[in-house]
Amino acid sequence: MKKLIDGAKYFKSTYFYEYQNRYEKLSSSQNPHTLFITCSDSRIMPERLTSSLPGDLFVVRNIANMIPEFNSDNLHLTVPAAIEYAVKVLKVENIVICGHSNCGGIAALFKPSEELLHLPHAVKWLELGSEIKEKTLKACNADNIPELKQTAEKLNIIKQLDRLLTYPYVLQRYNEGILNIMGWYYKIEKGEIFNYNRSKDQFDLIN
Ligand SMILES: [Zn+2]
Repeated sequence: MKKLIDGAKYFKSTYFYEYQNRYEKLSSSQNPHTLFITCSDSRIMPERLTSSLPGDLFVVRNIANMIPEFNSDNLHLTVPAAIEYAVKVLKVENIVICGHSNCGGIAALFKPSEELLHLPHAVKWLELGSEIKEKTLKACNADNIPELKQTAEKLNIIKQLDRLLTYPYVLQRYNEGILNIMGWYYKIEKGEIFNYNRSKDQFDLIN
């Protein structure tokens, strides 16, 4: 707890002071250029990864950076609500879906269900990854765990890109050329970011 409070004091006396004018301008409104959807994993720092400033990114985080397919009957779902607001109201220019190496949520897809009985909400959420699991097991040797996990992490990003386009207002703006959509794979131990190249069906290093 002390670490957090000391961190808040340090923020106020250093970073906030440095960007005080920017914070004051942002006090009543925001105009972020990007909706950044990523995993809740503590090793991912979206603003640091992209060298962004306050007001730049509208961020959505959840286990394994997943989004449900569009469903007009959806109620009380945080991810569709955030996508809707970011695209329709904030009119972001970019959406990034950022997955990462050694994702615990993706690894959990391959664990025996008995091991996850104490995590009913996480298990329910990870049902969104059931197709990823099946596709990965078809594509990989199940004994090669590192390959299995990395393949699933990447397939998961591609799947979320497809799901994003099930949102009619996302598809419309994407087709009009006023919304860029990117799928990133962040390799934590190397600081490397790979962007999904749909025409080549591969992830290209961008940094
Ligand atoms: Zn993760």
